[in-house]
Amino acid sequence: MRARFAGRCAACGGRVGPGDEMYWHRRTKAVEHASCHEAEAPAIVAPAFTPAPEPRRESPRMDTEYAAGVSDANTYLSDKAMFGDAMADAFALEAEFAAFNRGDDY
Ligand SMILES: [Zn+2]
Repeated sequence: MRARFAGRCAACGGRVGPGDEMYWHRRTKAVEHASCHEAEAPAIVAPAFTPAPEPRRESPRMDTEYAAGVSDANTYLSDKAMFGDAMADAFALEAEFAAFNRGDDY
């Protein structure tokens, strides 16, 4: 939504001007830049604890994970060549976030 009044972003402390794209926490009545709200979203949905990783063992499953890792790395390198470091990092982060949202083993 767009801000109707000037305010202060609860996430970064910066100014939110009238007409700026912002996010309003209905419950706490706190205002945030839309970009700040999106940036912190993964932290909110992240699980409170991380289960201990399964012991590594030779298995078809491990081969699949390895192949996925190689494919991710290749994607990263081609993104980097095509769009530059910053964009490649952004894409990798986005892919990781998407994997997290899908509930992939993490
Ligand atoms: Zn902000």
